[in-house]
Amino acid sequence: MRLLPYLTLIFFVGETYASFGDFAIPRSESTVVVRAFNVGNVTLKNSTHAFVSPVLPGHESIDFPMHAFLVEHTATQKRLMFDLGMRKDPLDFVPSIAAMFASGSFILNETKDITELLQDGGIPLRSIDTVIWSHSHFDHIGDMSKFPNTTGLVIGPGTDTATFPESPTASLQASDLAGHHVTELDFTTASLTFSGLKAIDFFGDGSFYLLNTPGHLPGHITALARVTPTSFVALGGDAFHHVGEARPRPEFQKNFPCPAHLLQETKTSISTDFFWSPKSREGAFDMHSRAQQLFAVSDLPDSFYADPVTSQVSLEKLATFDADPDIFVVIAHDLSLVSSLPYFPASLNNWKASQLKKNTVWNFVDKTNPAFTFNPTNATS
Ligand SMILES: [Zn+2]
Repeated sequence: MRLLPYLTLIFFVGETYASFGDFAIPRSESTVVVRAFNVGNVTLKNSTHAFVSPVLPGHESIDFPMHAFLVEHTATQKRLMFDLGMRKDPLDFVPSIAAMFASGSFILNETKDITELLQDGGIPLRSIDTVIWSHSHFDHIGDMSKFPNTTGLVIGPGTDTATFPESPTASLQASDLAGHHVTELDFTTASLTFSGLKAIDFFGDGSFYLLNTPGHLPGHITALARVTPTSFVALGGDAFHHVGEARPRPEFQKNFPCPAHLLQETKTSISTDFFWSPKSREGAFDMHSRAQQLFAVSDLPDSFYADPVTSQVSLEKLATFDADPDIFVVIAHDLSLVSSLPYFPASLNNWKASQLKKNTVWNFVDKTNPAFTFNPTNATS
């Protein structure tokens, strides 16, 4: 019975790589290739409080990269975009948003929009079958008028498709939708649920799922892309804006122990006036015993989370992915990753073998990382 040791080996290999199975994600050999773009950077002056709590002195303004993702279905070569970042001329937005840029409250640093980045990279716009918006905020919808009418648009359930000027308070304008076949997802008949998130199998082969993650804005969705049979990239949109809203948590601490040098550094770099954990002492923060994420979703009246309570629940569900060794979560505005993410033309597919997640998940508490905002500074905002 020489077969037995081999069978045992296969069994154990299967188990070792099966933690995604905890979410009841069906097994599949079908994959997609995911390539990330950072379309540009937007600064929102005096706006951090509308995203996260607490806001420490000196960190009142917030800097956002804008991630957009090119997803290619390996079996059919079909291409889609998940989010587009922002249009290049912010004065082309509806008046309420254009005014924020005109006044200097929002500052845009974007030399090329996603359509230019794609074409520069040899990706013709006519090859993009579908654009998926995580939600309809200005920094995700790009400029759909630059895509040919053959490019379809997929939006989440309840997305407000009213357009300016017919609807004076609308944030979309006619050119955001005109000429494109628009599909509004319906999760009520979805038979899959991963960690409490209703899922639609986009290509029907387990390679790319769209997930219902409401809260930030009606119709907010995320994606779960299978990049190898047993590893995934979750495209988190604006389910959260700073990874400190999802980290750390007990499972995350267990699967991704904080590197020793950061455990040491954060003793003094993280302010104990604003953050605490069971083994912290006045003036000495202890990360190891911190079981709760460092930031909460803003629930102030001017929060950018339309429904903060629902947002927090969607975030908690996604955070279980974030703690999982088989799923790499990339949110649209993750500033902590900008210096480490392999951007287009590289793909993210090799993230697990290259230990990208393990090597970057604690970036946000490294005081040299731009996402580090855990100590008051004298920086002017
Ligand atoms: Zn956004």
